[in-house]
Amino acid sequence: MKRIVCLGGGPAGLYAAILLRKARPSARIEVYERNRPDDTFGWGVVFSDRTMDNFRAAEPESHRAITSSFHHWDDIAIHIRGRRFVSGGHGFCGIGRKRLLNVLQERAREVGVQQTFQHEVEDESAFADADLVIAADGANSRTRARHAAVFEPDIEVRKCRYIWLGTTRPFSAFTFAFEPTRHGWFQMHAYQFSKDLSTVIVETREETWKAHGLDRLEPPESVAFCERLFARYLDGHKLQSNAAHLRGSAWLNFGRVLTKRWEMPRIPHIFRSAPAPSWPWRMRLRSRVSPSGPRISNVRPPRITRSAAWKC
Ligand SMILES: Cc1cc2nc3c(=O)[nH]c(=O)nc-3n(C[C@H](O)[C@H](O)[C@H](O)COP(=O)(O)OP(=O)(O)OC[C@H]3O[C@@H](n4cnc5c(N)ncnc54)[C@H](O)[C@@H]3O)c2cc1C
Repeated sequence: MKRIVCLGGGPAGLYAAILLRKARPSARIEVYERNRPDDTFGWGVVFSDRTMDNFRAAEPESHRAITSSFHHWDDIAIHIRGRRFVSGGHGFCGIGRKRLLNVLQERAREVGVQQTFQHEVEDESAFADADLVIAADGANSRTRARHAAVFEPDIEVRKCRYIWLGTTRPFSAFTFAFEPTRHGWFQMHAYQFSKDLSTVIVETREETWKAHGLDRLEPPESVAFCERLFARYLDGHKLQSNAAHLRGSAWLNFGRVLTKRWEMPRIPHIFRSAPAPSWPWRMRLRSRVSPSGPRISNVRPPRITRSAAWKC
């Protein structure tokens, strides 16, 4: 029996495991995740209708489960310089990141993927006997870093700072608001992802962020700053942070990650333990942040290729 290991149980690792299990029912597919099933960071994520169509084509069952949990909207509303512009017919849905993970975990269980939580993978050589190891360990992949000489990553940390917050304020549209300050512009984008919760992401240029002293503020002070700045869009609702896992400032940078190679076919213990002609698979897990919001594209068996990951 073939053994396939997914290192990391985020959306990419879980979705790959589900699709691989369906494409090769006789294989043993295992997912190793350092967190517990209900641990997560961040709030809701957005998928466009087109991404949902890809989900449906790739795996109708998980698509059904996702659609039963999401919040759908069509409009984009832009607020700038006291004016509001609304554009319709876009088609997006929001879902809590935790809910999405739980849906995929449940589906993985149903199709027979073995999931091990609270398991920190120190080194993928622990899976030396696996036929394929998929490094789905996220944008800051340790596997990619450890084998940098092979993958040749090209990483650019982008200059904008963002903070990922939540609120109980409902939003009927994908809402973008721009607010000037004496040091420069801040942008907020917000969308509802469940009956009573919305995501709010606030973003600004590094120099504006520093000029306001946000690099020296503790997370609650940053949250209060954003609440004051965008009060008119929050309608009296509070902003909330769940970034307790982050040390220091809760403001992060997006990174653009490219790698020259996405597989190490002939190197023992990673991606494939030995050349296996009956497994002509490659892996594509594409995450990208486009101007209309970040999204995950689908992963299709049997020819799964892995391509560039993360840009903004
Ligand atoms: C602010 C923000 C907003 C976003 N909004 C959207 C959105 O609206 N729509 C969208 O599609 N995407 C969005 N994204 C992107 C989305 O979060 C990523 O594309 C997605 O999480 C990538 O999935 P992944 O499985 O590759 O990585 P991750 O979600 O990072 O998962 C990697 C997993 O591997 C585990 N792991 C890592 N190393 C180890 C180890 N050594 N041992 C064991 N486990 C390990 C981690 O715990 C984690 O669970 C957003 C991201 C951010 C930061």
